[in-house]
Amino acid sequence: MARDPRYDVLFEPVRIGPVTTKNRFYQVPHCNGMGYRDATALATMRAVKAEGGWGVVCTEQVEIHPSGDIAPFIELRNWDDQDVPMLARIADAVHAHDALAGLQLAHNGMNAPNLYSREIPMGPADLPVFSIYNDPVQARAMDKEDIRNLRRWHRNAALRAKKAGYDIVYVYAGKLFGGAMFFLSRRFNTRTDEYGGVLENRARLLKELIEETKDAVGDTCGIACRISVDELLGEDGLHAAEARDVISHLAELPDLWDLTLSSWDNDSQTSRFAEEAYQEPFVTGIKKLTTKPVVGVGRFTSADTMVRQIRSGILDLIGSARPSIADPFLPNKIRDGNIDDIRECIGCNMCVAGDHTMVPMRCTQNPSMGEEWRRGWHPERIRPKSSSAKVLVVGAGPAGLEAAMMAGRRGYEVALAERTTVLGGRVARERLLPGLAAWGRVADYRTGQLAKMSNVEIYCDSDLTAEDVMGFGFEHVAIATGSAWRRDGVARFLLKPSPMSPDAEILTPDDIMDGRRPVGKRVTIYDDDHYYMGGILAELLVATGYAVTLVTPAPDVSNWMRNTMEQFRVQARLIELGVKIITAQGLASISREAFEMSCAFTGRRLMVETDATVLVTARTPHNALGQALLARRGEWADAGLKSVCVVGDALAPGTIAAAVFGGRRYAEELEDVRDADSPLFKREVAGLVNGPMPWET
Ligand code: ADP
Ligand code: SF4
Repeated sequence: MARDPRYDVLFEPVRIGPVTTKNRFYQVPHCNGMGYRDATALATMRAVKAEGGWGVVCTEQVEIHPSGDIAPFIELRNWDDQDVPMLARIADAVHAHDALAGLQLAHNGMNAPNLYSREIPMGPADLPVFSIYNDPVQARAMDKEDIRNLRRWHRNAALRAKKAGYDIVYVYAGKLFGGAMFFLSRRFNTRTDEYGGVLENRARLLKELIEETKDAVGDTCGIACRISVDELLGEDGLHAAEARDVISHLAELPDLWDLTLSSWDNDSQTSRFAEEAYQEPFVTGIKKLTTKPVVGVGRFTSADTMVRQIRSGILDLIGSARPSIADPFLPNKIRDGNIDDIRECIGCNMCVAGDHTMVPMRCTQNPSMGEEWRRGWHPERIRPKSSSAKVLVVGAGPAGLEAAMMAGRRGYEVALAERTTVLGGRVARERLLPGLAAWGRVADYRTGQLAKMSNVEIYCDSDLTAEDVMGFGFEHVAIATGSAWRRDGVARFLLKPSPMSPDAEILTPDDIMDGRRPVGKRVTIYDDDHYYMGGILAELLVATGYAVTLVTPAPDVSNWMRNTMEQFRVQARLIELGVKIITAQGLASISREAFEMSCAFTGRRLMVETDATVLVTARTPHNALGQALLARRGEWADAGLKSVCVVGDALAPGTIAAAVFGGRRYAEELEDVRDADSPLFKREVAGLVNGPMPWET
């Protein structure tokens, strides 16, 4: 299909100092949980982005020295020459697909607890390290020699980046990661020397780093400065006016300005709390302060929004982390006029959770993310079918939709049967909850793709039994029949059913999503799930007039959402809504009038009066159909059946991302001839050093 000429502007080249990007699609630096531990996997992931059309593909933040070590997080390292081959592999991978490679140098200063290196952290002042774990470590105020050392380390790291083949080298002063930002900020920088006080002084270190990086590698590399445009803390933080003053002061020094909100939780807000292009008010007008190109982000997935950012003079380059994770081929799809095929980011931050849990990033929308090298998965391609076998997928939730779509892409004849009249399973229901509308894209993308496939038939209103399945004559059957929320209180705190009076009013999230509402007005939500459902149901019930108490055995509401950087927003929202929050209390029993709690520490009992209880606890897999088919294995040959596989929540309830991954894995491994004991995926094992060992000498 031909590209809409309206989008031509997105494919114009842009000069960044001595280098030129072929288009305006710019993958800004982003973490990925792979870093130095999974370097080839990381290089392959970046290569796929370049293949998908991004003009610039950057690394994540790259530590330049052991005194800026952000363990336990796993990022890249550029400490000395030993790191150059690993960095070069990534640059080479990006160049192989005709994109520019950018490297983000980072010394995280007082954000770096130095847990691995055991160096004393350094910052502008003597203050506790500013890290998410509240590490019991203080940074010491840097003296002049420390600053000279830092500048030299930075320069040397820039030279190594050039040696490794990078086209763009970053100086980092954003998101409360890049150490120079702590010098910019009045709340951290209380110095009285020429690096503290007035703005010119607080910007001195950043200015020196930019000048010296330019001097070292600026002949062949574009020098980018990533800077915070607002901390959203009003006068206490680095605010918009002040950030603009810094940019004006240094306006022409770098070759590119990369604009971010700070800290990371403000920069990467989820769809529950912020719309696409939410950073627009914070970056509008900055282009006027400099003649250098400006890149900014905002979870852009709409080509029209991107064009508007360029045409209205807000940005020169469309920055992207999450949309490039959800769809590495987004630029090529716009280029080729295949807008409907874009797999839009849903803004859920499962990708961020991968980094926070120090495992290769995963993505709800793109199950191949992080698996490009280790499992050989590609976001757009999959190997052809191995036979002319026919496949039945039962259940059209995230797992079933993905399994059917990818088996269809392999060329199999696929039938997808769904009990209800709606495709999407849990997503079709959850997208109607407050703040989760964008999650519907998980279903929309897949149903849109399936509609174009002549080899996939969809049968709605088809509640299949084992008898039905045995009679159809399919060779392979995937059971993706989902799960149901438990109504007995069992989850983590309580492993056996809770005592409950028969007249107690008990509801589950399924009941609420089915439209049932508590009869009485006082509702207790018991959340032993710790993800989004408890908090969202509290919002929903308050909005419909209930007095809500939320009880959780965790120390705070929606505790796991610390990993998606939403926990503090959820708790703030519930406080503002007047939800009574009771933490560190588990379920003891439920009666007609009361919810009895047990202190998570002492076991002491407490009561809260309630008319109804909503249990957000564990889920029961709907695996009866799978089990019935497995029990009839002796009859399979006569029925022509060769395999039955249970996938997604029907196998083990989990995240939507896990269900999509399960569906993809089913299609990938369908008729796979691999030995079941062979490794599940490739991994990179660190090379052992040679020479006499300590115990030998
Ligand atoms: P997952 O997240 O694993 O994809 P979901 O709960 O989202 O699971 O989706 C499961 C889907 O399977 C739902 O749409 C449900 O209606 C459907 N389903 C469950 N049992 C059957 C069945 N026996 N026949 C057809 N569809 C079924
Ligand atoms: Fe977007 Fe969610 Fe994928 Fe992250 S995990 S890229 S937020 S869809």
